[in-house]
Amino acid sequence: MINLLITGGAGFIGSNFLRYWILNNPESNVLVLDKLTYAGNISNIKDCSSHPKFKFIKGDICDSKLISILLRRYQITHIANFAAESHVDRSINFPDQFMKTNILGTYSLLDEFKKYWSENRKPKNFKFLQISTDEVFGSLEIDNEPFTEESPYSPRSPYSASKASGDHLVKAWFETYGLPVVLTNCSNNYGPYHYPEKLIPLSIINILEGKNIPIYGNGKNIRDWLYVEDHCRALELILKSKKVGKNFCIGGSNEVSNIELITLICNSIDELVTKLPVKPSKKLITFVPDRLGHDFRYSINASKIKKELNWQTTVPLKQGIKNTINWYLNNESWWRPLLSDIY
Ligand code: NAD
Repeated sequence: MINLLITGGAGFIGSNFLRYWILNNPESNVLVLDKLTYAGNISNIKDCSSHPKFKFIKGDICDSKLISILLRRYQITHIANFAAESHVDRSINFPDQFMKTNILGTYSLLDEFKKYWSENRKPKNFKFLQISTDEVFGSLEIDNEPFTEESPYSPRSPYSASKASGDHLVKAWFETYGLPVVLTNCSNNYGPYHYPEKLIPLSIINILEGKNIPIYGNGKNIRDWLYVEDHCRALELILKSKKVGKNFCIGGSNEVSNIELITLICNSIDELVTKLPVKPSKKLITFVPDRLGHDFRYSINASKIKKELNWQTTVPLKQGIKNTINWYLNNESWWRPLLSDIY
């Protein structure tokens, strides 16, 4: 029986994962711990609140005392740590909270879990899953091979440096104490409930609102896009597998430049929506000064998880973008109140 603690479960990926987990594992007890920062939204998980085995606690992963109480009260066997400050642009302007949550918060969770696991005579079936990013590997040139589990860490932004630091702690708690941990490095996710400061939801909403679509630099930076539901399935497989002390790279095999991606979004919205403030919506594309230290390319070789856990993506980029646009079209009441934060 898995008693799962999902941290950051009211954020983008965490809320999608919660929904996916409850649907596929209705017998499992699930506790969400979330600080409800600007990126966390309780309405992201309101459809899960009637599930009899689900509980929500508002709190901070840096609060060791709270974590210690929750682990014991809910007899947690597995932790999936999604809680983080996740936006690169914010990390450039305000790095402080990134260091606190992504480093010290990861440390508090790990160490409290280690104490509790030790008290329980170190069961083999406990697991700490750290959700990390491919950005810890740095930036690739066009002809470089994709990242693998063996790629060296070379973070370049305050965000990726804070995530890399958290990851090193996770690896150290495995090597030093034998804590059963698994770490994942995934590529850029997209899908429903994505906070509209990020490229895909911001572009969709700006098109619907007739506002410019800002693209950094020349738009040639490349990302590998992963549909969030495919990511959730990978994480479920990892949580349930017996593998510990490993890391897995999870990617969508959908490498496109930002300008190709935005063109795809524009064309898809033009097809789906008859009346738009500006049509064709490509007219809204506006190049803006580049992000400081902007990584050129991320790319993931996901063959290890494909081979060892029989995982594969099921949603091609074109379909995933259509699903995502349709979700934003049908959920205006979710995103409209957030507009005052992003404009
Ligand atoms: P998000 O910003 O949408 O959500 C983060 C959640 O964590 C929010 O609900 C927020 O309230 C909560 N949180 C923040 N600080 C907290 C704290 N101190 N204590 C408790 N809760 C706190 O992020 P996301 O996009 O869902 O990303 C989830 C995880 O996946 C992060 O660890 C991120 O680094 C990683 N990741 C994301 C992507 C992506 O494309 N979104 C890609 C690779 C890795």
